Amino acid sequence: MPPIVTTSIEKLILAAPRGYCAGVDRAVQTVEQALDEHGAPIYVRKEIVHNKHVVEQLTERGAIFVEEETEVPEGEIVVFSAHGVAPAVHENSKARGLRTIDATCPLVTKVHVEARKFAADGYTIVMVGHEGHEEVEGTMGEAPESIVLVQTVEEVDDLEIGDPDHVALITQTTLSVDETAEIIARLRERFPGIVTAKGEDICYATTNRQIAVKQLARECDLVLVIGSTNSSNSNRLVEVARDHGSESWLIDSHTQVKPEWLEGIETVGITSGASAPEVLVEDLVRYFRDLGVEDVSELRTVDESVRFMLPKEIRKGLPMAPSP
Ligand code: SF4
Repeated sequence: MPPIVTTSIEKLILAAPRGYCAGVDRAVQTVEQALDEHGAPIYVRKEIVHNKHVVEQLTERGAIFVEEETEVPEGEIVVFSAHGVAPAVHENSKARGLRTIDATCPLVTKVHVEARKFAADGYTIVMVGHEGHEEVEGTMGEAPESIVLVQTVEEVDDLEIGDPDHVALITQTTLSVDETAEIIARLRERFPGIVTAKGEDICYATTNRQIAVKQLARECDLVLVIGSTNSSNSNRLVEVARDHGSESWLIDSHTQVKPEWLEGIETVGITSGASAPEVLVEDLVRYFRDLGVEDVSELRTVDESVRFMLPKEIRKGLPMAPSP
């Protein structure tokens, strides 16, 4: 049934880049290929990426999503999600004789490696991130005795570190670039000798989508972000859009658009989080076209060409090995 909404909207602008990043693309392809090569069921620990639509689609194909590796029957295949896992998860999996495929994004693995190295060198590591997020749990699991988590500038003020001259910094990959800069500035004031690894931990995809949404927000009255509520980078896009002068809402799909959001709006921007498939953007564009919006354009701020190889366990010709 066509939507019964009259609209003042004249223009639709799509952010670019938007949607799938290289890590999500790789993780989703990993489960698809595991299903193709080994057949259902394929167990997946946690949501492979934080997107409801993706999880539903893979479930239909025979993936079984579990919270913990201990729920996977012995000897079965389990894929670890893009957000990464703590070493204890590998150990448990090995003890259960599980055949593991690790779809951790290589950019998350990079932060794990940093954490291990700093801990081995005796640093207290301050991690900037969101408590309870799977990526944070996985990274902190690399060196639980050495890592403290901070989420705000206030929490930096409250930090008590035994040796303030031996402090290292890591961050979650999907934070707000601007908010994190404030927290890091405060950390540098408190611990002037704080060390970091080479290169940023906030990943290229998070950064680029935030750059794009800032520009979009300046040109739109309303920015709709497609992404699931548990997607960190999608939530950050909403915040960044609001900080840059636009109304903004997070939606899983076009079915969640509320007509009252559109009242008096002339220009609508659309973007999508790094775990949201493009088909959901296409559906949303169609929703607005059905309302009579004809002016649809794209605002490109950055070109992306990052690609990652599939995990070694899934590349053709390699045998499935038990967890290392
Ligand atoms: S958002 Fe960044 S770190 Fe996360 S999966 Fe995508 S590329 Fe990797």
